[in-house]
Amino acid sequence: MNVYFHTFGCKANQYDTALVRQAFVDQGIVVVDDPDAADLAVVNSCTVTHESEAKLGRLVRRLARHSGRLETVVMGCAAALDDGRIASLPSVRAVVGGAAPAQVLEAAGFAAPLSAASPPVSLSSRSHPLSPSPFGRGGTTGRFRGLLKIQDGCDEHCTFCATTIARGANRSRGIPELVAEATALAEHHAEIVLTGIHIGTYGQDRERGAGSGTARSLGELLEALISAVPSMRFRLSSIEATEVDDTIAHLLIEAPAQLAAHLHAPLQSGANRILKRMGRHWYTAESYRARLEWLAERLPVFGLGADIIAGFPGESDAEHRETVALVDALPFTYLHVFPYSERPGAAAGRLGERVPPVAIRERARELRETGEAKARAYRARRQGERGDGVVCGRQAGQVEALTEDYLSVYLPTDQWNGRPRFEVTVR
Ligand code: SF4
Repeated sequence: MNVYFHTFGCKANQYDTALVRQAFVDQGIVVVDDPDAADLAVVNSCTVTHESEAKLGRLVRRLARHSGRLETVVMGCAAALDDGRIASLPSVRAVVGGAAPAQVLEAAGFAAPLSAASPPVSLSSRSHPLSPSPFGRGGTTGRFRGLLKIQDGCDEHCTFCATTIARGANRSRGIPELVAEATALAEHHAEIVLTGIHIGTYGQDRERGAGSGTARSLGELLEALISAVPSMRFRLSSIEATEVDDTIAHLLIEAPAQLAAHLHAPLQSGANRILKRMGRHWYTAESYRARLEWLAERLPVFGLGADIIAGFPGESDAEHRETVALVDALPFTYLHVFPYSERPGAAAGRLGERVPPVAIRERARELRETGEAKARAYRARRQGERGDGVVCGRQAGQVEALTEDYLSVYLPTDQWNGRPRFEVTVR
């Protein structure tokens, strides 16, 4: 039996897929990169946008067309919310909500193991799933970036998001097991990305006594990881700006070799009334701006990204302008802009006051252009400066290195010293 894996969505999904893949390998099942050589496909789905689910449908249909014998198991967030649409796609054998390896194995027709340990997980390229690198994913990279999933789920109920429904409440892993996993990853990796669904709330469930262990905050976890593996560069995946506490801020400023100077801080809107409608009660445009300006003043090199939703229900033109003004004011180095799309089960669909599609498209276009201009300006400013590069891709005579501030730098393989982490010149 040959199995092909495909992952949509965030780094938490990539981590989940790697665990499922390992469970298949442990059963002696062969994992293949080419769907044409596969008997079974396991597709890890994402529900974050309408587009991600449309892509899932297209992939499953394509797999069914390409190979008459191939069956597909769909797992993950969109699978958890399936109303029958995914199950009725051609050649779908099973739909498994969530990412439990034993359930996916069973759905594929294999006996589940008694317990599945967490193996170290590699990121096979730099690419954020929403902004693919030119090398694509799963290239021939020497896997020098690893993933460490520190928590799953979320206790918030943002009205545009179905993730909480799909993944459940915040569940944090204990510091000892995370330190052990990071130590194992350090054998073959130069960077570890801390990932999860709402990582800024790491440890809060344990504080309330929902689990065992001593973890209380993300800052405390970072300190433990850095002291256990001081040679490693850690990087935070998406984190709420106002959840960057003083411990994390101090590490970003004082320990740049251990914690990459890069934050991806979801903004979603720069208008407080819209943030309220989104259910994002823990910050305002002012508190978001204040936290990031404070950090930017102290970080001469600082990669800063954000997610923004264009055309959320009820968003007026003036409120869109507030978002554009906030984006202009802050030193973003890239943006991920999402035209609003209704997610099944998410409360925003019941809010009314839909923004006309043409206005949603226009607002998204304006925000994207603003983000692209800021990205170009930041890169131009960094041109010729030194960066702390970690190899994240290697193909066609070129090496791709990712700097601390999330810039890709390409250089000919014969100019590479062969080390996973090395100083690069931004060009
Ligand atoms: S914080 Fe909001 S957007 Fe993020 S996972 Fe939780 S509910 Fe979804």
